[in-house]
Amino acid sequence: NLFTESNLSPDLLKAIGELGYEQPTEIQKQTIPFILSDTRDLIALAATGTGKTAAFSLPILDMIDDASRKIQLLVLCPTRELCLQITKDIKNYTKYLPNLKTTAVYGGSSITDQIRSLREKPQIIVGTPGRVIDLIGRKALDFSEIHWLVLDEADEMLSMGFKDDLETILNETPSEKQTLLFSATMSKEVERITKNYLTNPHRISV
Ligand code: AMP
Repeated sequence: NLFTESNLSPDLLKAIGELGYEQPTEIQKQTIPFILSDTRDLIALAATGTGKTAAFSLPILDMIDDASRKIQLLVLCPTRELCLQITKDIKNYTKYLPNLKTTAVYGGSSITDQIRSLREKPQIIVGTPGRVIDLIGRKALDFSEIHWLVLDEADEMLSMGFKDDLETILNETPSEKQTLLFSATMSKEVERITKNYLTNPHRISV
């Protein structure tokens, strides 16, 4: 039950070791081997504070192509605070993967600064739905070649009224991708989104 048994690359293990992570949390024990070995969509029912950021990002960071300068991972989340927290966590996990770049895009902050940081060609975008839509409209973001889409706190995003924005963004992504949906609860709106946008999803609950 140690991270060293999880098949993650030495660069990731070194970074999480320095963060003091010794054992995967319950959700990580389930998602890390699944995401590393399976391309099916995933619905994970997990509350905040269970280690879900590492649960989705560590296996993806293990597989992402750091030689490509295309956006491969899009993480959508409900709030600026969560967006900044996820970005900080991913930057910590990629400390020894210097070619991987992560950009946070969220409302209430300068869009021109965010457009400037997108010119550095990050492979990973963490964003809130409204600002992501703005940036798609300005042709500053292109998700046509992403491999992974993470919907974090999907229930929160839907209860905050982001349903139309989510659908607009989902329609900008390729059909050949893996969608990973994390939610604390399985509300009717979450059920509807999963029916319309996930294919034969595997379910994990902790
Ligand atoms: P999250 O649910 O992603 O917000 O994570 C909650 C907190 O647990 C964060 O401070 C993480 O850095 C920390 N954390 C995540 N996974 C582990 C782990 N396997 N061991 C120790 N701490 C962890």
